[in-house]
Amino acid sequence: MASRVCLVHYHEIGLKGRNRSSFENQLVTNIRRLLDAYPIASVGRVSGFVQVSLTDESRLDEVAHALTRIPGVALVSRAWQCEREQDAYCAAAVEALREAGDFRSFKVHARKSNTDYPLHTLDINRIVGSALCDEFPEKKVQMHGPDVTLTVLVCQGLVYVYAVSERGVGGLPVGTAGKVVSLISSGFDSPVATWMLGKRGATCVPVHFSGRPMTADTSEYLVQDLCRALAPSGVVGRLYVVPFGECQREISLAVPASLRIIMYRRLMFVVAERIARIEGAKALVTGESLGQVASQTLDNIAATNEAVSMPVLRPLIGTDKQEIIARSQELGCYDICCETAPDCCTLFMPRRPETHARPEQVHEAWELFDHEAMADLLVEASEYVDFESCPSYRPPRSRRPYHHRLGPASVAGKVG
Ligand code: ATP
Ligand code: MG
Repeated sequence: MASRVCLVHYHEIGLKGRNRSSFENQLVTNIRRLLDAYPIASVGRVSGFVQVSLTDESRLDEVAHALTRIPGVALVSRAWQCEREQDAYCAAAVEALREAGDFRSFKVHARKSNTDYPLHTLDINRIVGSALCDEFPEKKVQMHGPDVTLTVLVCQGLVYVYAVSERGVGGLPVGTAGKVVSLISSGFDSPVATWMLGKRGATCVPVHFSGRPMTADTSEYLVQDLCRALAPSGVVGRLYVVPFGECQREISLAVPASLRIIMYRRLMFVVAERIARIEGAKALVTGESLGQVASQTLDNIAATNEAVSMPVLRPLIGTDKQEIIARSQELGCYDICCETAPDCCTLFMPRRPETHARPEQVHEAWELFDHEAMADLLVEASEYVDFESCPSYRPPRSRRPYHHRLGPASVAGKVG
C-alpha cells in the first residue's frame, strides 16, 4: 500500500562536507518545530531530500503549503511512497498522474539513488510509461517540454512517485547564518527586510523604537502582530521594544530642527548595536531603500552609519516600493502595515529635514546632547517579548529577568 508523504527538495549549491550535514540537520529541526500544529508522523533525511510523513493524509495539501514558507525549502513534492515493486510503483504512478489535473502531455523521469536496484532507469521509464499509456490513452507522451513530468525515485528499500510540486521560498535554513538585529517599524519595508535576512539563514532579533511615553503604544502591538505574521517562516526569536519618546523630545530641544531625524536615527543605531552585542548578533538590518524618503539619501545613510561599528545590512536598498508591497502581501504583513500608528518616526518631525547632511554639521549636533547616557538609559528601559516560532533562537545569558509587557491591545482585536 502506498502512503502519502511530502518530499522537500533543497538547493545543494555550496553545501559540501560538514556544512552540508549541519544545514540538513537545521532544516529538519526547523520543519519539525514549525509544523508542530500539523498532523506530522515523522520528519527525516533521505538521500538528498527531507521526507515529511503525516498521521492524517487528508491534510497533505495544507502541510505541503506550510512547508513552502520555510527558508531552505526550494520545492515540495506531494509524493506517494511505496515498495520497490513494479506493480506498486506503477499503481502509484497512475494515482500521481491523476492528481496532476488538466494536462495534455507527460513524460516519466526515473532516478535511482541506490544502485542495488537491478532495473536501469530507462527500463523503469518504459515500464511506468506503458502503464500510464494504458490508463490515460488520450494523453500524449512528450520528451521535450511536457505539461507534466512524473518522477519515479528509487531509493534504499522504497520508491517515491510524484507529479505535483510547489515551489518553496528557497534560501537557507534559519539558524545557519548567525544572528542579526533588525530595526523594525510597523511600515512595509522593515518586516520584509527582516524576512529576507531570515531567508538567507539569519536568526532575527527585531528591535522597535516606540514613541512611548509621548505617543500611544499602538505601534508596539502592530510590530508584535508582524512578528506573528512572520512566524510560519520561523525567522523571529525575540522582539525588543525601546520607549524612545522622552529622548526624542530632549533631542528635539537640543539640536537644529533639520538634523533631528539624523540624530534620532544615529541613536537608534547605537542602541540597536548595544542590543546586538548583548544578543551576540553580528550585524544590524534596516528596511532602507535608496532615495525613498529624506533620511535615505546616500549622505544621510553615511551620516547614520558612522555612529556604529557593526555592519548595517540593507537588503532592500535597490528595491522599489511595489516589489516590497508585493512581498509584504505574500508574507501576510500588508494588512497589519496598513494600520496607521504613531511611532517614534512621526514624533517631533521637522518641517524640512536635511537631505544632504554635511559631516561637520552632524558631528556638531551629535555633541549637543548626552548620547552615551541616553543609549545607556534606553537599553536599560528596553522590554522584550519572546516568540516560540524560531527554532534557532537562543537567548543571551547575561540579561536581567524576563520583562514581559503584553496587555490588552490598543487596536481593537489586534493582540490577545
Ligand atoms: P518602514 O516601512 O520600514 O517603516 P520607511 O520607509 O518608513 O520604512 P524610515 O521611516 O526612514 O522608512 O525608516 C527606515 C528604516 O529605519 C526602517 O526600514 C527600519 O529599519 C528603521 N526604522 C524606522 N522606524 C523605526 C522604528 N520606529 N523602530 C525601529 N526601526 C525603525
Ligand atoms: Mg517607517
